[in-house]
Amino acid sequence: MNIYDTIVQVIVFWLGAAIGSFLNVVVYRVPAGLSVIWPPSRCPKCLHQLGAGENIPILGWLLLRGKCRHCHTPISPRYPLIEAITAIIFVLVYNRFGLSIQTVSYSLLMCWLLALTLIDLDTMTLPNPITQSGLLLGLAFQVTAGYLDSNHSVAGSREYLIQGILGMVLGIWIYDTIQILGSIMIGQLAQGGGDAKLMAMVGAWTSWKVVLLAGGVASVLAIVGFITVAGYSTLRSGKQAGANKLIQPLPLGPFIALGATISLFGGDWLIDTYQQFMRSPDRYLFAIPLLMILITLFFWMRKIRLRSV
Ligand SMILES: [Zn+2]
Repeated sequence: MNIYDTIVQVIVFWLGAAIGSFLNVVVYRVPAGLSVIWPPSRCPKCLHQLGAGENIPILGWLLLRGKCRHCHTPISPRYPLIEAITAIIFVLVYNRFGLSIQTVSYSLLMCWLLALTLIDLDTMTLPNPITQSGLLLGLAFQVTAGYLDSNHSVAGSREYLIQGILGMVLGIWIYDTIQILGSIMIGQLAQGGGDAKLMAMVGAWTSWKVVLLAGGVASVLAIVGFITVAGYSTLRSGKQAGANKLIQPLPLGPFIALGATISLFGGDWLIDTYQQFMRSPDRYLFAIPLLMILITLFFWMRKIRLRSV
């Protein structure tokens, strides 16, 4: 690694950290219906406005030792953590795609996914302004990337745009299919309009292949997640309490975001591993645990109503 590359990496890291800092503001203010631009960052308790030094991503929190300088209210370590995660994502995406439109596009997609994941975990909603702006931005990136990748031709733009629109339509369609399958297993109609918009957003930003794989990965992750939560709460507080806990809806957005991330960056590896596995002589043995899981799941799901999947 030469000195020029090191400097670029450092710049990309701090750009990511600064955008992560803005994501914290978005996650906190958008669900509350507040402006993301005004007023500037301040302590939620005493409303003391953060000074220049305190506003530095990651370091500001460390400098204050996780407390407001004025009223000493603890500031959640989630803020510097999100800043650090965003910074690391930016560096990883930059190292994979270099100085290209893909780096900008995928870094921003990760920002949208991260913000939506946190909001869904906090409030059980996926706000329309975020999913819709993400969808439009995704299509705009398709047009730009198509133009640049095809030596500045409109035909290239059109080709990529069609790919985005196909991804978008397939995203909604896959989500409907998952919902219908979930409804059959659970025995009642599942709900969740924001999740379909999130799938459409992922499709617009990537391609029908990525969104197809993302739907599959998200479903597997969601099923594992539901079993873990149900198992955990059953162990902790008895069978009935476990069932009651699952009736409370679990947010699906984080699973879709994780599925999309895995498919986008590890999709080729996932498909290769799968194909290699399907050629091995042991592949049929895999059916035994899979069947056991499916049977258990079916009887479990019949008893417990979920929001979706
Ligand atoms: Zn304060």
